[in-house]
This record gives sequence, C-alpha cells and structure tokens, in this order.
Amino acid sequence: MSAPLTSQTAQAKPAEPAATPARRGFVSTRALTLMAVALLAVSWGFLPDFTVVILSYIGLYSIVAAGLVMLTGVGGMTSFGQAAFVGIGAYATAWVGTSPVATQALGALVGTNGLPWVGLLLGLLITFVVAWFLGAVTVKLQGHYLPLCTIAWGLSLYYLFGNMEFLGGQTGITSVPAIKFGSLSLESPRAMGVVIWIVLLVALWLLHNLLDSREGRAIRSLKGGQIMAESMGIHTARHRVKLFVLAALLATLSGWLYAHMQRFVSPAPFNLNIGIEYLFMAVVGGAGHLWGAVLGATVITLLKEKLQDILPALLGTNGNFEVIVFGLLMVLVLQRFAEGLWPTLQRMASRWVYQPQAALPAAVKPLDQHALPPAGTVLLAAEHVTKRFGGLVANNDVSMTLKAGEVHALIGPNGAGKSTFFNMISGVDSATEGQVQLMGKTMGHAPSRAFAALGLGRTFQHVRLLGQRSVLENVALGAHQRAHKGWLASMLRMDRAEEAALLDEARQQIERCGLAAFAHVPAASLALGQQRIVEIARALAGQPAALLLDEPAAGLRHLEKQALADLLRQLRAQGLGILVVEHDMEFVMNLADRITVLEFGTVIAAGSPAEIQSNQRVLDAYLGGGDDNEESAA
Ligand code: ADP
Ligand code: MG
Repeated sequence: MSAPLTSQTAQAKPAEPAATPARRGFVSTRALTLMAVALLAVSWGFLPDFTVVILSYIGLYSIVAAGLVMLTGVGGMTSFGQAAFVGIGAYATAWVGTSPVATQALGALVGTNGLPWVGLLLGLLITFVVAWFLGAVTVKLQGHYLPLCTIAWGLSLYYLFGNMEFLGGQTGITSVPAIKFGSLSLESPRAMGVVIWIVLLVALWLLHNLLDSREGRAIRSLKGGQIMAESMGIHTARHRVKLFVLAALLATLSGWLYAHMQRFVSPAPFNLNIGIEYLFMAVVGGAGHLWGAVLGATVITLLKEKLQDILPALLGTNGNFEVIVFGLLMVLVLQRFAEGLWPTLQRMASRWVYQPQAALPAAVKPLDQHALPPAGTVLLAAEHVTKRFGGLVANNDVSMTLKAGEVHALIGPNGAGKSTFFNMISGVDSATEGQVQLMGKTMGHAPSRAFAALGLGRTFQHVRLLGQRSVLENVALGAHQRAHKGWLASMLRMDRAEEAALLDEARQQIERCGLAAFAHVPAASLALGQQRIVEIARALAGQPAALLLDEPAAGLRHLEKQALADLLRQLRAQGLGILVVEHDMEFVMNLADRITVLEFGTVIAAGSPAEIQSNQRVLDAYLGGGDDNEESAA
C-alpha cells in the first residue's frame, strides 16, 4: 500500500464531505414509493371516473417519458419522434384486433382473447426493427443532427399512418377489442388504468435496476463523451442504439395500452406536436430522473387539461394554443430549474427522505483477472508513427516502446505532440503513417475499446469524469470490461454478485490511491489534482498491463506528488509498464527509467534521465522558449 495521495488535502480541509452521504431523513425513498402506490391502489375504486381517466393518461404518458429520460436525460440523445413509436404500438394491435384478414387467420390460432397479445408482439417487433434501423443510421450523428432526424422520421411515420388505406386513413380504426383475461374484460378505463399503472411501475423498477448497475454506468458514460467511454472498453455505438430501441419499445408498449383503453385509433395523437410534448414531460420533470418522467407527465397533462378550457375562452378562438404556453413554460423551467422539477423537489424533501444504501451480497464473484507479462516484455510499440492535421505534422516518424516493469517518460514543450501521440497509441485516433502494436498485435484502426481489452489503461490531460456521479461509480466504470452481465440481467437484478465485485474492486483502487474519504462524493466536488488521481484509480480498476498517464501530477501539491510517485513505483514493481507525460522535471527525473523527448512532433532525444539531462539539444529545446511549467487549463 502506498501512502495516501491526498491525506494532506484531507487534513487541510476538514470540512470536506464525509465518506458516506451525511444527511439522513427518517423515511426512505422506498417506503415513500410503497406508500404512494398503496394509496393509489386503495383509492382507485373510489376516485371519480374523470380522475381515473386522467390518471390513466398520466400513466400512459409516463411510460413514454420514462423511455425519454433514459434516452435524453441519461444517455444525452434528444428525440422529438417518440409519438410515432406510440403510434406503431397502437396501430399494430388495432389492426390485428379488427382487420378481417388478421382476425380470421389469427383468431383461429390464438382465439379472440389472444389477439391483443399478438398485437402487442407485432407492435414490439415492428418497433424493434424500425428503431434498430433508425438508431443504427441516426444515433451516431452528433450535435443538432440527431434531433433533426427524429423530427424527420416522426413526421414520416405520422403521415404513413394517415395514408395507409388498411389502417383507416385519417379516420383511423374503430372498435378495437378490449383486453380480456378469460371472462374478465378490461373494458372500463378503471380496469385498464390498473394495467397501465402496473406496467408503468414495473417499467420504472426495471429501468431503476438498469441504471443502478454496470450497464447503467456504461449508459451514463455516454454523456461523458465517446472518447472516455470507449477507453473504458464500452462499445458506445451499441449502447446508444440499444438505448434508443429501449425507449422506442416503451413508447410502443404505451401505444398498445392506449389503443385498448381508447378502443379507437387515429393518426392525430401520434404527430410531431405530441412527440414534442413527450419531450417536454421528460425535460420539465427532470430529464435525468425516472420519477421526473411521472412528475413531468402529471404536470403537463393537468396543465394541458386546464389550458384547453381556459385559452380558447381567453383568446376567443379555438386552436392548439397550449403548445405555445408549453414552449414558454419549458423556457421558464429550464431557466429556473436547469435539471427539471424533480431534483428541486428532491432537495426540498431531503430533510425527511433518505436514499437507502443498496445492499449487495457479501459473497463476491471474482472479476476477470489479467496476468501481467514478465518484466521487460515489450507491451506497446510505436513504429514510425506520423500524424498530420492538414499541413501540421503533430507527430513526425515517432518510434518508441513501453516495457513491462518500467516507467517511461515522454517530455517536451507545449504543442510538441505528446497528447497527440497518446491518442495514437490508445486508439482514440489513428496514425497517418506508421503503426502501433499492443501486446504484439498490430492495431491498425482498432477503436480504444480494443486497446482497453488488451490491457491498456489511461488517464486524460483534460480530466474526463462524470462529475455528478460518485468517485466510487467513476472508478467502477474502469472495471467495466472485467465483468459481463448485460441489460436484461441488470434489469432483473441477476447481476448483484458481479456488481458487488465491481464495487469492491473500485473501493480497493480508491483506497490504494488514498481517496477513501471521498468515495461517495460527486467527482466534480474534488480538487482538480484529486480528480486526476480518480482517473488513475479508474484506469487501475481495469487491471491494465500498460498505463498511460497524461500529466498526472499537474495540480498536485508537493507531498501529493511524492505520494503519486510512490504509487507509480509500487505499480512498476508489480510489473506494470507506465508511460507518463509530465512537465514537472523533478518528478520525471526521480521516477523515470527512460525518457523520450519530443519537439515539434519529432523525437530529439531518448535515454536515461542522466543522459537526457546532459543532452545539448534537449537543453536548447527547453531554454529556447518552451514552457515546462504549464499548469493544466482543463
Ligand atoms: P502537447 O500535448 O505536447 O502539448 P498536442 O499533441 O496537444 O501537444 O498538440 C500538438 C500539435 O498538434 C499542436 O500544434 C496542436 O495545436 C495540434 N493539434 C492537436 N490536436 C489537433 C487536432 N485535432 N486538429 C488539429 N491540430 C491539432
Ligand atoms: Mg498535452
């Protein structure tokens, strides 16, 4: 065990947050949820018809909005087109339940009572295919292009519904059958409402479980940027498409329930307006929080109800004026409550309500172990790597190796091409010429996650953490590729043993790096120097053989730097190969076994610290105007 890296800081600032969340109310979120559900269940039979219908609609909208919370709030992808997927769910079951062709062919097979279930399957299947296709094509788009695309396909699907003869055109489909269980027919909204709310609550539970897992961390990491997530071994494109499909399937489920409650389907409820309203619900409620979806759906539904009465009377003419009010409301809410209403509600309630700590099994299933190659093995080799950005040559014919059991330092003035070289040898970017070999494999254009899988861990010059998540979660993300449970297992809580192992690994690395006191605080609340250490802990959680550190000592105090050096020596003794970019010459000279010096993208010297210190070209480069005391600007 090395000396704690941040003990100095922890002592100097006793007011730092404690290891566990300090504030504790007297009622748990779980108890509160159960009470609310019980209250709803008990009062359901006595509520007026109108209230039941409104509540049912809130349930339907919440299911769609919950998918959007996952997609937009958690995954960082905006969709205006969810209403179209609701439409697929509604039309699929309406068609199966009413068209003569379908009812005759399928009715014989599954009986009349089975038709809605066939409709559900068909809807989910169509959505799965459509969403997978649309997702694969569009979710890779950056910036404003994805929202624009969702508008485009939202509109196209809507017009498709209205123009298909067999779907009843603009008039739609009437007499959609009710769902029946034997002799029990769910004809009344009161009966359907129960199903809707059960579906909603189960969906929320599954999504909650998903977010609270290894895969949930991977989903959240999408917001932390593709480069970081891929470096942790996460296939970001696949996760984005899956998230997109998940949100679409939830919308379809809502559409299916809607069709059997309303018993009538027409194109109007699936147009772009409604797609935008769904997004309002998610954003106004609190796009990062599942219960925000329910809150948003409630607020928007009630408001719409009121506005549809008030506005025409006020303006003296009919029209969808509530959309304008929603637009203004959204601007207002986002101005005052950037994260939506739910976090504000949470803050207000935090004196009474607490989040129970998840209980994980003690018996721990071990994570994948990677054996370290013997000392002296070449882990990483760059051969004649050249990288051009237009006319600028950022790396010019750079060759170097990193061996197991050594610390190799890469130094050079600002702009010398060190970070670019890091990107070349970690799969973030690929070389214009030359090649990179990792563990004896030629990497070509392989993505960062392939580098991670082969045993490469790294930190970033500009810290890339999920600032709002705890240090523990950030570090656990680093161990992602050492475990295997997928989305379904996570949703069904079949991942608990593995999750315990992941968090245990994260805890050990946090302790090893001296950050134990900060395990449960948001990463962004740490000083920048400490955040760099969190990145090291995260890289170590992946059990790398080769470790790349881009300016790890920037922002650390003297004693913290010593502790960091101790940790790196200890890792070297264990057989890791460490490539470090660092501007602090004292740190480098005391630690490194070998040093390579870059200037204007070219290697101007390589050798032991003593050789480098007496090399005239190096001295010239450093005295010739290079800035070797750069503080991180990140
Ligand atoms: P260092 O890390 O040694 O300070 P960098 O590798 O960040 O240097 O940059 C090397 C040179 O390449 C700089 O001149 C920089 O402006 C340029 N550069 C880096 N990344 C890019 C990019 N994506 N596009 C264009 N130029 C770049
Ligand atoms: Mg740099």
